[in-house]
Amino acid sequence: MPFYDLKCSCGEEFNIMASMSDRENKRIKCPRCGSTELEAVFTNVNIVQQKKSGAAECPNYHQCGGCCH
Ligand SMILES: [Zn+2]
Repeated sequence: MPFYDLKCSCGEEFNIMASMSDRENKRIKCPRCGSTELEAVFTNVNIVQQKKSGAAECPNYHQCGGCCH
């Protein structure tokens, strides 16, 4: 089962091992307040940033919309 880094709307961040269906069906609860409104925390945000800068560097960005990458 994968590990998730989750953040609750109350500000609690925690790491939990759960199945995909547990997460999809909101069966994971915040250990602090019990809320199921949890956001995934991605520690490796570089993936998104690299994609964005790569698209901007494309000389034909205005034509291809960055999808040539
Ligand atoms: Zn909470």
